[in-house]
Amino acid sequence: MTSRLESLREEYQALRAQDLSLDLTRGKPSAAQLDLSNALLDIDLGADYRDASGTDLRNYGGTDGVVELREIFAELLGIPVAQLLAAGNASLQLMHDTIVFALLHGLPGGEPWFGQDVAFLCPAPGYDRHFALTQALGIRMIAVPYLADGSLDLAAIEKHLADPAVRGMWLVPMYANPTGSTVDEATARALVAMPAAARDFRIFWDNAYAVHHLSDDEPAPLDILGFAEEAGNPDRVFVFASTSKITQAGSGVSFFGSSPANVAWHKKHTSVQTIGPDKLSHLRHARFFGDAEGVRAHMRKHRELVAPKFAIVDRILTERLSGHATWTKPSGGYFVTLVAPARTASRAVELAKSIGVAITPAGAAFPYGDDPHDSVIRIAPTMPTEAELEAAIEALCVCVLLAEAELEAS
Ligand code: PLP
Repeated sequence: MTSRLESLREEYQALRAQDLSLDLTRGKPSAAQLDLSNALLDIDLGADYRDASGTDLRNYGGTDGVVELREIFAELLGIPVAQLLAAGNASLQLMHDTIVFALLHGLPGGEPWFGQDVAFLCPAPGYDRHFALTQALGIRMIAVPYLADGSLDLAAIEKHLADPAVRGMWLVPMYANPTGSTVDEATARALVAMPAAARDFRIFWDNAYAVHHLSDDEPAPLDILGFAEEAGNPDRVFVFASTSKITQAGSGVSFFGSSPANVAWHKKHTSVQTIGPDKLSHLRHARFFGDAEGVRAHMRKHRELVAPKFAIVDRILTERLSGHATWTKPSGGYFVTLVAPARTASRAVELAKSIGVAITPAGAAFPYGDDPHDSVIRIAPTMPTEAELEAAIEALCVCVLLAEAELEAS
């Protein structure tokens, strides 16, 4: 009788013979999703390039962004329009620049961070690009593992905040990348109320997936700025968002929301950098959506394309990996986190790569690439076709099982 290891090796060799070329790494919208916004490309501003107040948007100026668009996203994000700026195409750039402003100039009433020991709390697993940018800017990262039930470890966070070096914390509050978890109101209120040794401690509340629901439950974002104000820490939170995964990822609009003092601070430093954002892009987006309900309706079209892919991932993982691994079942966002048996994730990713299936490098979702259990694998289901996705997840499952069997046999 063939052993389990042998039969998995045979299955793996059969996959190799298929000459696969599949990619599960890209948390990008598929071409079909991008097509949903093609009308944006056809909006002709030639006859009407003015905003509601009559301002000619072709010119410099308007540093806050076009108000019609800010009004739409103010409603969606639950942020007063005066406290919400619309900027360029990438919220990641806003996050980067915000940290650079803090490093070079300090936050309102604070010293520049540059030259000091500055650390950020990084709930882990988290978004690899947050960690890459933190590291590139010389900021120390402190991983804060999620609790077994997937919630934030508030006790650990509170302990870390007693350290005056801790100036920031990353948080994706809805359908997080990659865990899919969503912060509840009690947790949000605790985070903005906690004592922090650093007076200029900020939460980088990256609400990249605020409207990216995968079920009929479409919760509104928490009023995090309101909670912070009520808790007596009105300046604690920077909110980021963008249309990247709403319209067309390469040419969307980003948003920055915060307290009046933080917004004034941000504008002061941005005004040296630019004489205004691409307001014609803002105007096209405002006309394309019409209103907040237009965005919600548009996101339901994304859901029709994306939800079946998440169902495929869940079905195949259930068939192949039940009893061997666990995985998230997100009700929104872009990712599934697969928790493979300890000490198998990097081997499984390597096995997949050598048969033509690209998986995000094991460890990528952890600060410094360090997954302490070598078990987390991030699956991005949106970009491949359904057929490619099925083939890739089937192959990934064989790789996980083979990595596990190899480990057991060693
Ligand atoms: N924030 C999170 C949590 C993301 O997952 C992503 C993209 O994957 C981004 C931000 C990037 O946003 P943007 O395209 O606005 O820079």
